Amino acid sequence: VKVEPKKDVYRISSDSAFAPFEFQNEDNEYVGIDVDLLTRAAEMQGFNIEFNFIGFSGALQALDGNQADGMIAGMSINDERKKAYDFSDSYFESGIQIAVKEGNDSIKSYEDLEGKTVGAKVGTESADFLIENEDKYGYTIKYYDAADQLYAAVSGGQIDAMMDDYPVIGYAISQGQKLSTPIEKEVGGQYGFAVKKGQNPELIQMFNEALKEMKRTGEYDEIVGRYIKNGS
Ligand code: GLN
Repeated sequence: VKVEPKKDVYRISSDSAFAPFEFQNEDNEYVGIDVDLLTRAAEMQGFNIEFNFIGFSGALQALDGNQADGMIAGMSINDERKKAYDFSDSYFESGIQIAVKEGNDSIKSYEDLEGKTVGAKVGTESADFLIENEDKYGYTIKYYDAADQLYAAVSGGQIDAMMDDYPVIGYAISQGQKLSTPIEKEVGGQYGFAVKKGQNPELIQMFNEALKEMKRTGEYDEIVGRYIKNGS
């Protein structure tokens, strides 16, 4: 089904570094599952997009402040966010997980995080989880704006652990980052494309129509397969 766009160009806000969903390749071009899915959806439905890769919390703020019409950033659909945003059908199943520097054998459970520092990106599901469980486990949370700072802090030993979406940690490990994931992941976290509540409904419709078609033709699997090989 073809939906009519209502704007000449839709401004899309996204994360700045969230491989394999959005990241810069060797030619400094942004690629990734989110980028490819939305770019393809725009081609299929005949609408124009302009990406702005400004970081996760920046992307949320852009949407809130009407500087963006839509946001795609491995954003998890949850009840709290549904109060402020309308989401597309879910396009990826994720979950969050603790990671430590490879070789750090002192952390094997959440209880082992007592007295330790744990990092997360501002405004994310991981940050929310850490805030919720801070008193229970007795760690201190450190916040980062971007993933590169967060991952560097764990590798450099400035923090003891971090929490992020497991496909993103898995991708980092597959790319040679020296991290391990000693604690079972928290399930959930369906990713959705989002607009500000009540705005640009046609954008969500166009994405949903294209997503359905990409799943039907196998193009969805082809796009994901460009970045994620057999479960890692
Ligand atoms: N899925 C997580 C969330 O929605 C993290 C997204 C991200 O860091 N880009 O909070």
